[in-house]
Amino acid sequence: MSRAMTTAILHADRLSGVEHGALHKPTHTAVAFGYPRTADLVAVFQGAQAGHVYGRQGNPTTAALEAKLSLMEQARGSLCLATGMAAINAVFTTLLRAGDHLVASRYLFGNTSSLLQTLSGLGVLVTLVDATAAQAVAHALTPATRMVFVETIANPGTQVADLAGIGALCRERGLIYVVDNTMTTPHLFQPRSVGASLVVHSLTKLICGHGDALGGAVCDVGGFDWAAYPRINEAYRKGDPALWGLQQMRKKGLRDMGATLTAEHAHRIARGAETLALRVDRACDNALRLAQWLNDQPGVAKVHYPGLPDHPQHARSAQLFNGRHGALLSFELKDAIAPFVFLDALELVIKSSHLGDSRTLAIPVAHTIFWEMGAARRAEMQIADALIRLSVGIEAFDDLQADLAQAFGRSAA
Ligand SMILES: *Cc1c(COP(=O)(O)O)cnc(C)c1O
Repeated sequence: MSRAMTTAILHADRLSGVEHGALHKPTHTAVAFGYPRTADLVAVFQGAQAGHVYGRQGNPTTAALEAKLSLMEQARGSLCLATGMAAINAVFTTLLRAGDHLVASRYLFGNTSSLLQTLSGLGVLVTLVDATAAQAVAHALTPATRMVFVETIANPGTQVADLAGIGALCRERGLIYVVDNTMTTPHLFQPRSVGASLVVHSLTKLICGHGDALGGAVCDVGGFDWAAYPRINEAYRKGDPALWGLQQMRKKGLRDMGATLTAEHAHRIARGAETLALRVDRACDNALRLAQWLNDQPGVAKVHYPGLPDHPQHARSAQLFNGRHGALLSFELKDAIAPFVFLDALELVIKSSHLGDSRTLAIPVAHTIFWEMGAARRAEMQIADALIRLSVGIEAFDDLQADLAQAFGRSAA
């Protein structure tokens, strides 16, 4: 029987059998796993038998989180890593080689953009396009293109990628379609519904939600024909071809590169995920109401939020994201208000670089996360100096609104 996401993950550990009837999978801290018979150890090593050999490749606690992520994304399988960046890195470096071509959205999480520069240095050809239109991706394709990478709602500009159009294109051309679903989470959007091959997550953000664990994941949500993909090593062309991609990422990306998620963090992330739907609904409601309110403030030049009717992809967002528009917004202050003065006047909203937390966080974008790339690149990406990003949490709306109102009052010149 297929159950709704929250129901399914709340009962996943218990129903898969935990000793003493415990409701949670225990936090397994052991690094090594022993077997009474050599033949069993060998069979686990060779992949003929399920089991764990060494903690760098996973343990029962991270495996329980992987099972929950697979339920959440309706995936063939999932792989957890130490951080979201480790997950993205595993996808790029284990499935592409020098000479392969990757088309990625121009509107990406800053560290992902930076990682793409590293990838270029290693010989992978990278083209950045405006992924809000599938035609831009289509124009960039070459015979060497193997993969397309996009985010659902971009940070900080909140551009919404042409997720369905790019999915159709990737299917037609036999390309690996990777969707970073961090900003929407499977509660708002399942990239599988638009033909994604792989979904990546920063579990650190909304899925954990409490700002006390780092984690990342790759979920194989089906559709891609790994048997026809030339970059799968001979050693991983074994067993069900549907799982070859994950198998290679687990061995190369996790075992060899070593960015392992600890059991303690896997447990915290799994506990956070139990309330994901409740938190995301509340945060999105707060974000929509704040965006509407900010839009009417005299000190604000522009609000970027897909829930506003004048957002360029408002209709797409309304169609794809389960009736909500995410928990992140950004706004540009008018010249009369100095961004640092405004931010310093906030008493409840925290000045922090994190996002997807239960607490509301604000950051001046140009001076922090987009500082390293320089002014020219920022202008190209439409990152104004007075742009403030707000990651909206689950506080009472009235308290958030009152805090922003008093900060406008105190900072207006
Ligand atoms: C934070 C973030 C990442 C990186 O995740 P970490 O867990 O911080 O490494 C990747 N993509 C998006 C969209 C993010 O917001």
